[in-house]
Amino acid sequence: MEWIFECDLAEYDVHTVVKENETFEWDLKNVKNINIDDTVYIYVTDPEKAIRYKCNVVDILKVHEPPLYEAWYLKNNEDTVCERYVELELIEEYPLPGITLNELREHGIKQEYSFQSKRRVPLETLEFIEKRGAELIKSEGPDFLGAEDINTFPGVEREAIIKVRVNQSRYRKDLLKKYDRCALCGVTNKGLLIASHIKPWSECDKDEEKTDIDNGLMLCPNHDSLFDKGLISFDRNGNIVISDLLSPEDRMFLNVNENMHIELTGRMVSYMAYHLKYIFKSGKLK
Ligand SMILES: [Zn+2]
Repeated sequence: MEWIFECDLAEYDVHTVVKENETFEWDLKNVKNINIDDTVYIYVTDPEKAIRYKCNVVDILKVHEPPLYEAWYLKNNEDTVCERYVELELIEEYPLPGITLNELREHGIKQEYSFQSKRRVPLETLEFIEKRGAELIKSEGPDFLGAEDINTFPGVEREAIIKVRVNQSRYRKDLLKKYDRCALCGVTNKGLLIASHIKPWSECDKDEEKTDIDNGLMLCPNHDSLFDKGLISFDRNGNIVISDLLSPEDRMFLNVNENMHIELTGRMVSYMAYHLKYIFKSGKLK
């Protein structure tokens, strides 16, 4: 079965929720007969007025209080107690503008339709959502990383923009499937983890290198910054190499030490060889 759940952004910050959580919970007020493996499309209210997410129901929960983490995202504290919840897992994110209310109205959603009651999806609408959703995802595509207009920005600014784009992209999501924590220190907060290219994006020869998951590491902001600036790198066995530019005190405060190690598999070895040769700053006089 397929459902549309409405999310009022003024009450619940669903965009942050999906970014920071593998699965998340949703109340089941006014819903009957929902089952595990049903599909839930999340319709977001003003200003977007569009379906932005497709989720899978992974569990039905009976709880009397919302879980603590959910309350973090609630913008008011009213009306937070419900007896049944679903646990949802994100399957697809539809890039802006999403599947808009106007489009839905042209495909089977009646004018007076309100999503508030969490409605079943008419067949005609369902077919349209799937078709339009696939188009939106394709239009974002892997080329998102390779957008050419980026070349008009000066160097430092360009790198910063690339970093943001990579971290909003499918690449980050794919990398999150491979790593659920910082490769060096174990930070797991998804809102903090950064998808970092081993061979920098701007120095990749081909698009395949830009989108190659083997060319990525998931790092916390601290270790990402050190790796990005070439103050740490790794040898072919995955053992850390630390720049002489970092004093013993800085190493301690920045949480790097000679015993650190990462797993290098497949093509990661050759990307890391590039990083060690061209990005790493040993700090030693030549
Ligand atoms: Zn870290």
